[in-house]
Amino acid sequence: MATQDRFWAKVRKTDDCWIWTGAALKSGSGAFRGDGGRNIPAHRYAYLLSGRAIPGKARLIHECGNPLCVRPEHMFLGTPTNVLARSSAPGPGGCINWCERKTANGYGLLTVPGHKQILAHRLAFMLAHGDVPAGKCVLHKCDNPACVNPDHLFLGTKGDNNADRHAKGRTARGEKIAAKVRGELNYAARLTESDVRDIRRLAESGLSHGRLARRYRVDQSHITNIVNRKAWAHIP
Ligand SMILES: [Zn+2]
Ligand SMILES: [Zn+2]
Repeated sequence: MATQDRFWAKVRKTDDCWIWTGAALKSGSGAFRGDGGRNIPAHRYAYLLSGRAIPGKARLIHECGNPLCVRPEHMFLGTPTNVLARSSAPGPGGCINWCERKTANGYGLLTVPGHKQILAHRLAFMLAHGDVPAGKCVLHKCDNPACVNPDHLFLGTKGDNNADRHAKGRTARGEKIAAKVRGELNYAARLTESDVRDIRRLAESGLSHGRLARRYRVDQSHITNIVNRKAWAHIP
């Protein structure tokens, strides 16, 4: 089988993301075994296959937040300088503070041209270290939600959060906030948690996904994912 055919045989296309169904790398991205026998990130392969180029220092970032997605339109190229530097300034403690738009909780928020909204610290982490594996969140060591210094950011789970808190002997505030706002601050989110509950209730009572999509002004596929608990899965 030709290399490309081998690749696409492992991809399940939905209206939204194109999901890699083969093995995964540690980062959470798909792993595709190229002709040389070496594993390459599946999303990178798909991006190059689409005729786009990846210059030397640029990072390929998933705007959809799904490291297994290989849809080229869901990725963009970024470098720390071109995306973040113009909108941040050094602050106390080595923090680099986001100076522009912020969420109610103080997290930096930006819109990458042609793409969706994204949390600034999450983008900073991805630019420095690559994708955020599914189920992990980007947390602040410095407890400063506006900080986008990659050295102050780390990947965590709830378990890490507790261990880290013991080690530091205090409440890791940023992590708690991050856990609390997980859904509503997800950079693509335009819905609130109560919207999500309403959508599920209305869908159950027979309202079509198309009508709900128009009512809440989101894609129909997003409604379907919400109803099937592929999106907002942490809301029961
Ligand atoms: Zn995607
Ligand atoms: Zn900091």
